[in-house]
Amino acid sequence: MAQALEEDATNTMTARQAEWIGVLGQLRAEIGEDAFRNWVQPVNLEHVDSGQAVIAAPTRFLRDWVATHYADRLLALWRAENEQVKRLLVVVGIRSRPVNGNHFAGPDDAEALPASPASAGSVLPLEIGDDRAQLLALDHRSVFENFVVGKPNELAHAAARRVAEACACPGTPVPFNPLFLYGGVGLGKTHLMHAVAWHVRKHACGRKIIYLSAEKFMYQFIRALRFKSTMDFKEQFRSVDLLMIDDVQFIIGKESTQEEFFHTFNALVDENRQIVISADKSPSDLEGMEERMRSRLGWGLVADLHPTTYELRLGILQSKAEQGGLRIPPKVMEFLAHKIASNVRDLEGALNRIAAHVQLVGRDITLESVQEVLHDLLRSHERRVTIDEIQKKVAEHFNIKLGEMTSDRRARAVARPRQVAMYLAKQLTTRSLPQIGRKFGGRDHTTVMHAVRKIEELTRTDPSLAEDVELLRRMLQG
Ligand code: ADP
Ligand code: MG
Repeated sequence: MAQALEEDATNTMTARQAEWIGVLGQLRAEIGEDAFRNWVQPVNLEHVDSGQAVIAAPTRFLRDWVATHYADRLLALWRAENEQVKRLLVVVGIRSRPVNGNHFAGPDDAEALPASPASAGSVLPLEIGDDRAQLLALDHRSVFENFVVGKPNELAHAAARRVAEACACPGTPVPFNPLFLYGGVGLGKTHLMHAVAWHVRKHACGRKIIYLSAEKFMYQFIRALRFKSTMDFKEQFRSVDLLMIDDVQFIIGKESTQEEFFHTFNALVDENRQIVISADKSPSDLEGMEERMRSRLGWGLVADLHPTTYELRLGILQSKAEQGGLRIPPKVMEFLAHKIASNVRDLEGALNRIAAHVQLVGRDITLESVQEVLHDLLRSHERRVTIDEIQKKVAEHFNIKLGEMTSDRRARAVARPRQVAMYLAKQLTTRSLPQIGRKFGGRDHTTVMHAVRKIEELTRTDPSLAEDVELLRRMLQG
């Protein structure tokens, strides 16, 4: 009987596959060979389940492209063949391959883009009790091997690794509970959590892991309340070896969810099960979170991911370009690492755009072509910072009087900050060297040039100054 069912499922899938191929053929005729080869061919049919077809693109960029340009048409063509296909979801490179007889990695709603706005609100249910759901949406690229470690993230990385290793060895005491990772958007919190899950999955596949966003936790909880299945809900969460809740700031102000989370949390900690939490702020800064919750969140290890430094960004760019088989001249890399100083996601976005451009146009990557391809992105990263602002922030940071920015005093304690300010003025504004000189008490342009060179040199040899400069840059641009 079970076998018959399975065969049935296989036959159905073959039928869907055949429809999909037909749909692709029609689309190819409509959009032409080139566009088809560039955009649609790399996409695979993953599965079709209760009216929803899931197709996977190998990169985020392609996923976004297909979702915005072709998904509606693909769905329309498919519905013309088989009107039971009601929704089309485009996800990033997820393979539903059986692992130890289980399927895992369903599509992630956060990652997946529905085909049409009409279905944008549909949330894929996380079936509590369904083993597939345990490792919902782990991005296969988010492993430790692909995580570039630098000063800003080394603590968080080391802590995540320690947790993963302990968790992969049943019987090992949990090293710190919870591990609380926090930091701004796009700095690698989710990556590290996925990496922990992959590591444990690989080395101790029997361990029960739940990874989900706080938002999904809430959604599941509300669903459980509605369907009066809160007991199942509790059971499910309280029987895990490793619970990871991403973006916990989301449940601030959601009182009953917070309460439930608190109980789950305590029950697991009492049983010595590992918990990993991420948020955009430290526990003590999670305003609006209940006090007892905040204090409990800080009990284990709190590790923050600092804003990226230039070196880390360069390292990440190199690693990602290598992975993507992209050859980018060092000058261009340096340019990107300088200009896109926000977060890693934006860096990736820039690389994806460059990759797509190379694929389409086939020209070499140069500084000019990159500036052209990324002009909107680069522009959005340019903030109109003024020299006055720079002087004020730098003076505050180094605790000197604003007047020292224009004074003649040459003592190191004021000269160095002044040079930092000149350097930042050169970096962050479009002012010329003479213009900058004038703003610094009528100094000569060669003085400004000297300051710029000096700080460039020092940031390479003096990490603490490099950090100051980076911090100031972020404050000014943020
Ligand atoms: P967060 O959850 O903190 O907002 P993510 O973990 O989603 O950030 O990271 C954003 C993107 O940047 C992801 O694609 C991730 O793989 C990548 N990324 C972040 N930090 C690193 C790093 N140190 N090395 C490699 N990739 C990184
Ligand atoms: Mg995240």
